[in-house]
Amino acid sequence: MNVKEKIRTLKIFRVIVQIIFFIFMPSLFSQAFAGVKEAVALIGKGENLILSDFVIKLLILCAVTIIFGRIFCGFVCSFGAVGDWFYMLSEFIQKKTGRKLPVIPSKWQVYLQKLKYIVLICVIGFCFLGKGEYVTKYSPWTVFSLITSRNFKLGAYITGVVLLLLIVVGMMLKERFFCQFLCPLGAVFSLLPKLPIFHVKKKGQQCFERCSACTNRCPVHLKYDEADIRDGECISCGRCFVVCPHRIKKNK
Ligand code: SF4
Ligand code: SF4
Ligand code: SF4
Repeated sequence: MNVKEKIRTLKIFRVIVQIIFFIFMPSLFSQAFAGVKEAVALIGKGENLILSDFVIKLLILCAVTIIFGRIFCGFVCSFGAVGDWFYMLSEFIQKKTGRKLPVIPSKWQVYLQKLKYIVLICVIGFCFLGKGEYVTKYSPWTVFSLITSRNFKLGAYITGVVLLLLIVVGMMLKERFFCQFLCPLGAVFSLLPKLPIFHVKKKGQQCFERCSACTNRCPVHLKYDEADIRDGECISCGRCFVVCPHRIKKNK
């Protein structure tokens, strides 16, 4: 199988897995994040943590992330999947019209990736102060969860609807726009320690000279000379693994 065929096979596999989870567990990401909000709210009130359904889901996803890297983000999360599908549509339109979207300089991309920590701090702050209902009321995830459960009574969630539409526009302009720049759950996952087993890592002389095949294909534009400090950004999509001529395994 040549590299193009491998990439296509991985893409098809990923879309199939994403569709299955989209159908059967479309709100898993928002339920896990509800676990974060719930835990912070209890800490804010000085109460003991309760192992609710949301908190258990969060703990399971954190354990999966620690063991396998952010495989949930790469293959399972429905919001990430929707982002991938809108970006595929965008790529199709770009191909048909012969117009390419401008590329964000990688330096800016790195800065923008920090925004999600600000979002996470704001959400944690609201929940800690007992104002978590504002987060739920204005969240685009609330709207997404309502839509995926076929509840279209969105009149009380206009802010969330507008934010969701803006996010969709962003998803079409930049691959994994929301995941990279804004997702507070992604921020939590990026901060966890990891024992990833599917990554490749540039290893100096073992790489082909001037090879950047992995970085060019990476949706979060992870450069391997920066991998140690930006490792948390990796969404374990596996693309670098299939394009690397060496398939160098990370051995951290
Ligand atoms: S970064 Fe957030 S939205 Fe993106 S795949 Fe991960 S949990 Fe889902
Ligand atoms: S291409 Fe590789 S480094 Fe980039 S997100 Fe996917 S698995 Fe991670
Ligand atoms: S694709 Fe493989 S050989 Fe090329 S830079 Fe990445 S890790 Fe090195």
